[in-house]
This record gives sequence, structure tokens and C-alpha cells, in this order.
Amino acid sequence: MTRLILATRNAGKITELRAILADAGLPHELIGADAYPGIPDVKETGVTFAENALLKAHALARATGLPAVADDSGLCVDVMNGAPGIFSARWAGRHGDDRANLDLLLAQLSDIADEHRGASFACAAALALPDGTERVVEGHLPGTLRRAPAGTGGFGYDPILQPEGETRTCAELTAEEKNAISHRGKAFRALVPVVRELLG
Ligand code: IMP
Repeated sequence: MTRLILATRNAGKITELRAILADAGLPHELIGADAYPGIPDVKETGVTFAENALLKAHALARATGLPAVADDSGLCVDVMNGAPGIFSARWAGRHGDDRANLDLLLAQLSDIADEHRGASFACAAALALPDGTERVVEGHLPGTLRRAPAGTGGFGYDPILQPEGETRTCAELTAEEKNAISHRGKAFRALVPVVRELLG
């Protein structure tokens, strides 16, 4: 059986991709990067989600000799020409300060009318083989930005993004509801034919 490695220490992401591969009838065993302790983190020097996902996938494939999957994601605001984009995790200056990032974004958009508050989560998922072969796919979750956070689930910008056709924010959806429509779920599902093509 071919083994695949996912560039994350997030157990939720591993479970999500494992379920998607299994649902598609793919026999590959998915392991997390934790299985190889000591692999250094990759500097995300790319300027697009796709470039950063590819950087991480290639580094992991080289280090382990296994086909490797990596994803990179963020929030893209229409009126800000796609920002915060690749800077989503450190928009307010400190990496991973979700509340500060969200508060800064809401302040920046305070004068923007409801009809111009379109935004989407975007995710690139890359597959790299140890021989350098690469593929990258994307998924999007379009919606609008609320004026104030609502909901306690999820992470990051979930409390302010209301998906298209929803009355709730992402932070008010259950994990299953969010996974079913999420940018990451869509990108991971788009990887299925790629895995089939490259790994059989
Ligand atoms: P990463 O690619 O998982 O590291 O995510 C980068 C950043 O984008 C996160 O720190 C969040 O700020 C934002 N982000 C990505 N996906 C989501 C999501 O599903 N909900 C909320 N925020 C997200």
C-alpha cells in the first residue's frame, strides 16, 4: 500500500483528508508529519497559497522519501484585492493571534457597506513526489463579512465569515457542516483524482 504524508501537526486535518481518501475508495495510508520528528519547519516564502503549499509538500517529500501533501489557506476580502490572503495568520503582526487579526480587519472595513463585504476562504492543496513531480489544486468558500463576530466554534476568521446561502457564520456551524462546504474540504476532495493519477 502506498503511504502518503500530510504536512501538518493538526490531527483534525489528518482525519479530514483520511476520510476523504477512504470515501473515494483510495487505499493509500495517510500519516501526519509527526511520524518524522526533527523535520524542520519550512519558511513560507511564496507569494501565493499555491506556492506555499508546494514549498511545504516538496520539502516534506524530499525529507521523507514519501509522496507528500501540504495545504495553505487564508481569507481573501474582495474590496481589499484579496488581502489578508497569505498574511491571514499574522495580519495584526503576531502569528496566530486570531482575535487581534479579526479585530483589525473589522476596523479596516468599518466604512464598507454590506453589499461590498464579499470575501472567501481559499485553500491550495499540493501533492509532491520525491522525484519532484508536483500538482496543486484549490478550493474556495465564498461568503460575506459580518460587522461583529458571532459564534464560538472553529478558529481564525470563522466568527465573521457568513457563507453564501447561510444565515450563520462559520463559527456557528458544526464541524461537520463546515467541513462539508469548506475551502479545505473542497481542495482535499479535488486532490482525489490527482492522487489516483500519480499514485494509482
Ligand atoms: P493555515 O493555512 O491553516 O495556516 O491558515 C492560515 C490562516 O488563515 C489561519 O491562521 C486563519 O487566520 C486563516 N484561515 C484559514 N482557514 C480558515 C478557516 O477555515 N477559518 C478561519 N480562518 C481560516
